[in-house]
Amino acid sequence: MSQKNVRVRFAPSPTGPLHMGGIRTALYNYLFAKKNKGDFILRIEDTDQGRYVPGAEKYIIDALNWCGLAPDESPVSPGDFGPYRQSERKQMYRQYADILIEKGFAYYAFDTPEDLENMRDLAKKAKMPNWQYNVISRTSMKNSLTLSADETEKMLANGDPFTIRIKMPRNEDVRFYDEIRGWVIVNTNNMDDKVIFKGDGMPTYHLANVVDDYNMKISHVIRGEEWLPSAPLHVLLYKYLGWEEVMPKFAHLPLILKPDGNGKLSKRDGDRLGFPVFPLEWTDPETKEVSSGYKEKGYFKDAFINMLAFLGWNPGDSREIFSLPELIDAFSLERVGKSGAKFDPDKTKWFNQQYLRSKSNTELAELLQHKTSHDVCLEYLEGVAGLMKERASFVEELLLDNYFFTAPKEYDAKTLRKKWKPATATNMELLKTALMTISDFKAENIESVFKDFLLKNELGMGAALPNFRLLVTGKGMGPSMFETAALLGKDEVLKRFENGIQSIENIKANLAT
Ligand code: GLU
Repeated sequence: MSQKNVRVRFAPSPTGPLHMGGIRTALYNYLFAKKNKGDFILRIEDTDQGRYVPGAEKYIIDALNWCGLAPDESPVSPGDFGPYRQSERKQMYRQYADILIEKGFAYYAFDTPEDLENMRDLAKKAKMPNWQYNVISRTSMKNSLTLSADETEKMLANGDPFTIRIKMPRNEDVRFYDEIRGWVIVNTNNMDDKVIFKGDGMPTYHLANVVDDYNMKISHVIRGEEWLPSAPLHVLLYKYLGWEEVMPKFAHLPLILKPDGNGKLSKRDGDRLGFPVFPLEWTDPETKEVSSGYKEKGYFKDAFINMLAFLGWNPGDSREIFSLPELIDAFSLERVGKSGAKFDPDKTKWFNQQYLRSKSNTELAELLQHKTSHDVCLEYLEGVAGLMKERASFVEELLLDNYFFTAPKEYDAKTLRKKWKPATATNMELLKTALMTISDFKAENIESVFKDFLLKNELGMGAALPNFRLLVTGKGMGPSMFETAALLGKDEVLKRFENGIQSIENIKANLAT
């Protein structure tokens, strides 16, 4: 038998922005598809018109593109299995609901929302809070199982509102193999008669999902754990529609947990703990509330993806840094865990830092060019990037030390107090004179002149270097002082000595009075 082509789908509902858990699902689908030379499909599941949010579909597509997870087939790049929005496939679903009714696996239900509400109230009063429309209760409801065929026909002909429900068999074990969890067995006595087709002419998620996966020739359904309870119903639908042979394989991914491990990560955790939960920034079209995004917060997409890959999967060794092609190469469903993966915002920053460090100074300088208003050349920014990249997690942090662009206006109080002694001004004048002699103002020359100056004046590194730094940068700490001075250039350094010595002396004098 020939191996079925791998075709996987990411099937979000456009009910709002895509949470990072959604991107993780898309990523695992993408990795699995690419690893197996298969197709990655985006299908928009918009059957629930009441929950449709304008802009959400565009957000989903933009987010996937930003992450580098462009689908092979999607509403904007259709393949041979379109349309890729369920609302545009509307006409396809009813026929399958009809087949199920004909075969006796589904039935019409005419209960009004009030009827259902009454039943729930009655059940609550009888101390049975979780009333369900199921194999027992359906016998006392208004449906084509309790009404005569004539009555049913009449109501349908009359245009009375109806839904179509699955007819759960009594006491049957539904079993399927989950690629991550192993065998899953659920008894139909614990399942309800879910609505599969609604009065508005739209299928519900369950029917649409199964019909589309079948028609789009999906080979593997890889989705979040929250869909595991729906899987037995889907398995039954495959069976009842006669598609058991081509049923996709299932893989339900572990939940992403809050940083403290207590429960599923939600949008509110991000707001509460100060990290984004969305890939891109999102403005709620109704409330105008803005939720932050990884992109806008300065995360590299490859760091974001690398971090997400590890939320539920590991390569089986200690390597942590993986580019997208490396992830494709290393990925397998066998290495996806069953238990929830704790989201760690600090680790996410760590990933960003690793990616920042691995970028060349030129790449970083190009990014900096868009962020700085200072009129400096690319080469200069390369120098700043080179000096600062070990100390930063985000590109923006490379610019935190303003002294690369303007002379210090303030001087670090602690260094000033502890290191600037009465003799320092004179010593720094001597250092200035020594620096003036350097014709090629590069780091190693500055360092050797500085060391000569220490020797000649019998000064220690610990006494002189902090003051050198204080004059040039205003700070008590920073990257290599010699490199920093070389980057700033001789003229600028000498100017800073000139103005700085006097300013610091004035500050000291004011402090003394
Ligand atoms: N529309 C579902 C969602 O929003 C898809 C679940 C599935 O992949 O089957 O996540």
